[in-house]
Amino acid sequence: MNLPIYMDNHSTTRVDPRVVEEILPYFTVHFGNAASRNHSFGWDADKAVEAGRERLARIIHADPREIIFTSGATESNNLALKGVAEMYAEKGDHIITQATEHRSVLDTAKRLEKSGIRVTYLPVDREGLVDPEEVRKAITDRTILISIMLVNNEIGVIQPVEEIGKIAKERGILFHCDATQGVGKVRVDVQEMGIDLLSFTAHKLYGPKGIGALYVRRKNPRVRLAPMMDGGGHERGMRSGTLNVPGIVGFGKACEIAMEVMDEEAARLQGKAAQRARGGIGGCLS
Ligand SMILES: *Cc1c(COP(=O)(O)O)cnc(C)c1O
Repeated sequence: MNLPIYMDNHSTTRVDPRVVEEILPYFTVHFGNAASRNHSFGWDADKAVEAGRERLARIIHADPREIIFTSGATESNNLALKGVAEMYAEKGDHIITQATEHRSVLDTAKRLEKSGIRVTYLPVDREGLVDPEEVRKAITDRTILISIMLVNNEIGVIQPVEEIGKIAKERGILFHCDATQGVGKVRVDVQEMGIDLLSFTAHKLYGPKGIGALYVRRKNPRVRLAPMMDGGGHERGMRSGTLNVPGIVGFGKACEIAMEVMDEEAARLQGKAAQRARGGIGGCLS
């Protein structure tokens, strides 16, 4: 037996060797700055970035132009909540979220409360689920954002995101979803789910650490965000800073692999779960 055995894939995953292989040339051969417009080193890097952007868009059914690269889901969640609060300050000052969000949502909400934003933290039931009707009831004329995660990072429950997305749409309120634990494992479709902003990160789906993304809807409605960082105006002005080209290449490859194997992996894992429930195998997640 190979010890120790890793059983904490909710906190991070091993990088898939196929991802490592695809990344490596982007450190030493294609090392250009994707923002360099006047030579082939820059063009090569930019091409790799755009290919990565397309792969990320595909896994959540978005347009590549709606993908903003960040350093990870923590940054994506900060950018979504703070960026909306600042940009839509004239429209309102109320955010709805729920008690079992990741700390990068809860602590961001707490920070916003200090600057005068009102936050409703909805409870969850004994299964860990939010009731969409509670979301509906919490909405006021001053509500600008609903932020509810897709899959919980501790107990794995899947929130009724599609229903919440419908309610948000009906009331014309932006809907942010931290889908970090869902992307690559369950089907994610920002259109069907009515999501306007979606956070995810490479290192939870066999990609490298330190690279994440925020989906920002461009149509129906066009979402605008106040940037958290000022600088060169990268990523449509929403996230300045030289792009992490190797990270983006790896994130893209990880998404591509996840798309390919998602259905068969889900079936395999569900088969094991069913067996486990019947007392068939020892309760070890693989
Ligand atoms: C891991 C995780 C994050 C943070 O992602 P980083 O890329 O590590 O910043 C945010 N939300 C959820 C649900 C997570 O599981």
